[in-house]
Amino acid sequence: MSEEPSIFTKIVNREIPADIVAETDDLIAFRDIHPQAPVHLLVVPKTQQYHNVVELAARNPALMASMVALASQLADRYCGGEFRLVFNTGEAAGQTVFHVHAHVLGGGLDEGSLG
Ligand code: 5GP
Repeated sequence: MSEEPSIFTKIVNREIPADIVAETDDLIAFRDIHPQAPVHLLVVPKTQQYHNVVELAARNPALMASMVALASQLADRYCGGEFRLVFNTGEAAGQTVFHVHAHVLGGGLDEGSLG
């Protein structure tokens, strides 16, 4: 893979710090550095080969399903099991990190907060 390591790969590799809340063989989850809701976690595949959710769903639906399952487990732990799952896709939609990630938002959400 010729791409530079993404900011999330650096978190996976402990090259930059993060408040990590869960880790599996394939995924890592940590608190967003700029939370948009009382609970705002990012669930991220350790591989950076999928740039967005469309690529991930087409090429590795099992990994996508495992992201949703981990998001649900974290929502059980941190916000009563109910949550919003957001995948910003494309710059115009607010995506800034092109290493696929799910925003898990919960705990007293305002209408319209999209991570
Ligand atoms: P996007 O805008 O691509 O959907 O989401 C990227 C998210 O990553 C943003 O919500 C941003 O706050 C978060 N983020 C960017 N850099 C870091 C970082 O170094 N640490 C953590 N914990 N979150 C980050």
